[in-house]
Amino acid sequence: MPEQESSKKSFKDTLNLPHTDFPIRADHKKDDPVMIERWEKENLYEKTFNHNKGQEKFILHDGPPYANGHTHIGHAYNKILKDIVCKSQRMLGKHVPVTPGWDCHGLPIEYAVKKENPHLEGDALKKACRDYANKWISIQKYEFKQLGVLMDWENPYLTMSSEYEANTLKAFAELVEKGYIERKNKSVPWCPACQTVLASAEIEYQDRKDPSIYFTFMLNDATRKTLFPTLQDKPVSLLVWTTTPWSLPLNRSVLLRPNTEYVVLLTNDTYIIVGQSLAASITTMLGIENNHCISFNSNIFAETKGYAIHPLIDNYEVPVLLDDSVLTDDGTACVHNAPGAGPIDYEVGVKNNLEVYSPITPSGHYTQDIVPAELVGLSVNDGQGWVIKTLLERNKLLFKTSIKHSYPHCWRCHGGLIFRATKQWFCDLSKNDLKNKALNAINNITMLPQASHNRFEATVEGRLEWCLSRQRAWGVPITALICNTCDAAFINKEFVNDVAQHVEKNGIEYWDTVSIDSLMPQGLTCSQCGGVGFSKETDILDVWFDSGISHFAVLQQNSALAYPADMYLEGKDQHRGWFQSSLLTSMIIEETPCTKTIMTHGFTVDAHGRKMSKSVGNVVSPTEMIERLGTDGLRLWAASVDNAGDAVVSEIVLKNIQEVFRKIRNTCRFLISNINDFDAAQDTIPVERMKTVDKYALQELYEIHQELMFAYQQYDFTRVFHILGSYCAADLSSFYLDIIKDRLYVEKHDGFERRSAQTVCFAILDAMTKAIAPIASFAAEQLSDHYQKNKDQSIHLQQFAQPIDVWETYAQCMWEKGVMHRTEITPAQKTVEMASFAQSQMQKWQALKNVRSALLKMIEVAREQSIVKHSLETRVTVYIDQNMQNADLIFSLLEDIENNRENVESFLKEYLIVSQVVYATQKDSLQETSLKGLYAHVEHAHGVKCPRCWQWSVTEDNDHLCQRCAKIVK
Ligand SMILES: [Zn+2]
Ligand SMILES: [Zn+2]
Ligand SMILES: [Zn+2]
Repeated sequence: MPEQESSKKSFKDTLNLPHTDFPIRADHKKDDPVMIERWEKENLYEKTFNHNKGQEKFILHDGPPYANGHTHIGHAYNKILKDIVCKSQRMLGKHVPVTPGWDCHGLPIEYAVKKENPHLEGDALKKACRDYANKWISIQKYEFKQLGVLMDWENPYLTMSSEYEANTLKAFAELVEKGYIERKNKSVPWCPACQTVLASAEIEYQDRKDPSIYFTFMLNDATRKTLFPTLQDKPVSLLVWTTTPWSLPLNRSVLLRPNTEYVVLLTNDTYIIVGQSLAASITTMLGIENNHCISFNSNIFAETKGYAIHPLIDNYEVPVLLDDSVLTDDGTACVHNAPGAGPIDYEVGVKNNLEVYSPITPSGHYTQDIVPAELVGLSVNDGQGWVIKTLLERNKLLFKTSIKHSYPHCWRCHGGLIFRATKQWFCDLSKNDLKNKALNAINNITMLPQASHNRFEATVEGRLEWCLSRQRAWGVPITALICNTCDAAFINKEFVNDVAQHVEKNGIEYWDTVSIDSLMPQGLTCSQCGGVGFSKETDILDVWFDSGISHFAVLQQNSALAYPADMYLEGKDQHRGWFQSSLLTSMIIEETPCTKTIMTHGFTVDAHGRKMSKSVGNVVSPTEMIERLGTDGLRLWAASVDNAGDAVVSEIVLKNIQEVFRKIRNTCRFLISNINDFDAAQDTIPVERMKTVDKYALQELYEIHQELMFAYQQYDFTRVFHILGSYCAADLSSFYLDIIKDRLYVEKHDGFERRSAQTVCFAILDAMTKAIAPIASFAAEQLSDHYQKNKDQSIHLQQFAQPIDVWETYAQCMWEKGVMHRTEITPAQKTVEMASFAQSQMQKWQALKNVRSALLKMIEVAREQSIVKHSLETRVTVYIDQNMQNADLIFSLLEDIENNRENVESFLKEYLIVSQVVYATQKDSLQETSLKGLYAHVEHAHGVKCPRCWQWSVTEDNDHLCQRCAKIVK
């Protein structure tokens, strides 16, 4: 804008130069902590919790992060998204109380505490775990506050609070009452030396040498006759390979791979079946000729049930089953399956309803129940030799060697593990058709992004069972009594609820300290054996059960909240975790799904799409991001990420975020600096009286705002980010704000011309500031501090702006004046008429924008030819031919302008940002522009340059002031 020209008189002081204290550059290192402290002082966490009470509730139920370690970028991304959802819903007028939560029980904390203090047990261990969790809760709480997240931080739910622990038991009692709880065998990794089950974190893999044996399972007569009628001279056997001979007595089936080619080979005494792809190596190994007899597809076993005779147990037949877990590149493609002795074996067993047979003592010896009976009392190590010897005697062993392979070992004693079936507690997913009910419920839950629907369905569909028990200390006890004589369990709803009442007062520690006598119901006898001696169950509940029943423990118990939630929002990995445990338990306890919407987001990855991990060294912490971008920048990044994909943190992405943020901030700053003398209450110009271009800008704001509100309602924050970015860049900076600069700086400070533009500037600033508030929460608070006179509450307690629908107001006027229609009109007709009116208005402006670009192109050519140096030195003569495309629209718009008491030439002068415009009535010597039918001539403006506004005019003024400026100054 105008600078002083030293030789001449200065008019600088007579201009309305923009001014504001709002800083040019965001100083987030200084400002962010100040804002967090201020919110704390203002008690904004509590205020937002209670705000809009009585209005429609919106409940986002916070999935509890695990209380160990610092928050990482994934946590930050998640919490920020939740915060954007809540702030925007609140600004849409809803009551949005948010209670944050923490998941506190479970192995990772117990493991960490035990690592430091291996000897802690019982109460002391639990106290240490509580302290550990509390320490991390306060650290994480601090870190979440740094993200500008507004939740009720003073009143979180903790799964380790005694109330929550009691509610966990009450929820469990419901499952007991409704018949979902069963206790049965499950294979678990077991250390015979330490006599304990191991969690996956406690298993170490080391190389170990084991026997590798090939032996036969003979098909029974019926199977052979049906499936292999041409092979009747000798027995037909499946050749099976194993490296754990001790588990052979526990075998309950032989598995083949479905839809796979197998061959029958001839040996001296028997036909053997092996996978075709392995036949050559097996014949070499066995030293037999490749006596390939027949081939067949394994699916014949799907059509006909086949049985094989157990090689160690006479008259005992096991089924031949098809299963995808069988591989065809190793062994024989005929697999030994013992559901009581391995994790995959177990799964296959559960799927096929096989017995989970595991007569093994905690120290790794065969019990009295083992068949063959010769094994009773032997250790499984000795069992290895016995099995090999017996197979040899029975002529079932075709080949024996040894193998070195990676094998699971105990983290404490480093001994080899076995898999052993132990009694575990389960939630029966087939009870009352639970799984199908859950699958149906998913159809009624809005899944965002939509594609996640199938993924969630698949994880629920694929779930075989839910084992609820863990053999650990730090968790809610399974409050059952176990018969000392026969190991049967006693449990019922009343008993569990009784215990829950004590736990509510004393925490889970109650279960450890209460004596069995005071616990036992009067006259209790074992329902299985009549025994009267009982012990307390020592297992605890799976932590997924703890957090999974938060809908019951939090939403149902806290009257400030509501059930079901409107939204659960977590990373997509929670489809198999919290979403699932929450859905299943809510379908049992409340018999309705616990949420209406499930929104998921991806993982945080680096520029190469690699998941962030310490070992790759590509982890970026929230602190580093804040350091670089500021809190608002980090939040803007979270909003910009498309939640259907992964969240990329890369140099390019971060630069783009900074660029967009700078653009938005600068635009707002420009607006603020030009309304410092504008009092919205007094100086606002009503829409009807505004200048035409101002009306248009206000309408544009209305349209953009509608889009923004729609995007917020759809939780489409990526869209919000893009709309804001392009609105600031395209519609404001390089169009409207550019056009009105002259009026803002030059016109009389309180005159109509300037006030009309300021009215629009204020509306844009107010709408924009509120629209960015859910995302750039600190900047919005600062901006509103500057432009809201007498601001009495935080921007986060205000509602989104409601820009005026100018076209509607305009149409309303015309209806009232009877211009638009003559007869009575129905509301539906009115809507249609309104829509077509709005559309025609937009078309007019679009047509005019095309005229503008064609003329600006021509001015640019004149500039290149040095006819003018600056667009303000330009005089443009324009002629619009009737045949020009959309000429009728342009004429109609120019007519509107005249009807608005504006001069068309002045309008165009401002619109093109030139000094002089002549609206010609003939094309004469004019040149056709790039727009067919639009003619123009561009030349240097006549007269002299006004030292105040830099526009050129023919003037008599001594100081060369243009007429306009002369009037204002003198
Ligand atoms: Zn061990
Ligand atoms: Zn008993
Ligand atoms: Zn002037």
